[in-house]
Amino acid sequence: MAADRASDRPHLAATYREARSAVLAAADRVGAEPLSFVHPSAGREDEELAIDVMTVGPVDADSVLVIVSGTHGVEGYAGSALQRWWLESRAGQRPPGVRVVLIHALNPIGFSWVRRVNEDNVDLNRNFVDWTQPPTNDAYGEVAHLLVPESWDEESRAATTHALLEVAGEVGFDRFQEIVSSGQYTHPTGVFHGGSGPVWSHRWLADHFSEIAGSARRLGLIDLHTGLGPWGHGELISHETGGDPGYERGTAWWGEVRSMRDGESVSASLDGDWLAAIDGWVPDVEVTAAALEFGTVDTITVMQSLRADAWLHAHGDPSGPDADAIRAQVRAAFADDDPAWLAKLVERFDDVTSAALTALTPTVT
Ligand SMILES: [Zn+2]
Repeated sequence: MAADRASDRPHLAATYREARSAVLAAADRVGAEPLSFVHPSAGREDEELAIDVMTVGPVDADSVLVIVSGTHGVEGYAGSALQRWWLESRAGQRPPGVRVVLIHALNPIGFSWVRRVNEDNVDLNRNFVDWTQPPTNDAYGEVAHLLVPESWDEESRAATTHALLEVAGEVGFDRFQEIVSSGQYTHPTGVFHGGSGPVWSHRWLADHFSEIAGSARRLGLIDLHTGLGPWGHGELISHETGGDPGYERGTAWWGEVRSMRDGESVSASLDGDWLAAIDGWVPDVEVTAAALEFGTVDTITVMQSLRADAWLHAHGDPSGPDADAIRAQVRAAFADDDPAWLAKLVERFDDVTSAALTALTPTVT
């Protein structure tokens, strides 16, 4: 019985290459012919990197649901597994009249290198800002040397972590999270760096999003993330606030969305989120977009993994002997190989996608 084989149960891939080939094979089985947009760099195993776009449903549909993985590279291990699960288990039950588009590995190089950030050490969700007036975050500069010190041994780790916790104690944890993670534009080798201009994945979205939306008059979008919130819990995060049409539609579709703007969400309020840019690319489309953020481990453990990763790429050797242990630390912070974790994600993802498809299904009059 094939269905009983452990390999058939949803599981996280070990590498980007494995994740990509599994998703492409699943897409092939349901006739969702992928369009592949190859990244200029090769991956960590010298593999081809690409954003793969897979589509099922009528090309002229008024209603379109877009599901995105890997905006934050390493978070794509879970996102890719969910996309693959959807192709294998739900694509065949999709309501007629809705087109579903899966965008696999929006930041493929981060996925391959087991990093949240991209080839430029840029956090894609801090990159969609007004580049004539990038946001300022002066408080980041005061802790930058503590977040990513020049050496990363037991002693420097302990000393800088202690100093950071002291700062958190002084300013309060919420403010500390905001200083560290809301985005910064001054320290290119630091954490949560927004960049100095639109990065490759940003330019790809700007060039292709209206084509992906195609005939859509109504578009739902779910951007899959991990690393914030309680273990296995999936919070829908809106970039809008209560009263905004997208926020209100999201609430009607899913029962609840939480705004990152007004302190409701596990996420700090941040600048440069890509979901906020969608309306500009498809101004005539009614867009209902949310990030679906799944919890893994506690915030401090996540933060330590990101500090280690930033150090590795700023001062260490990403191909050297220290690198595998740091990549394992980052992966564990963003992707739990416990099947019970993925089972919780699948259940929540199923509910969220089903509700979106129901809301997007044209009513017959
Ligand atoms: Zn994320």
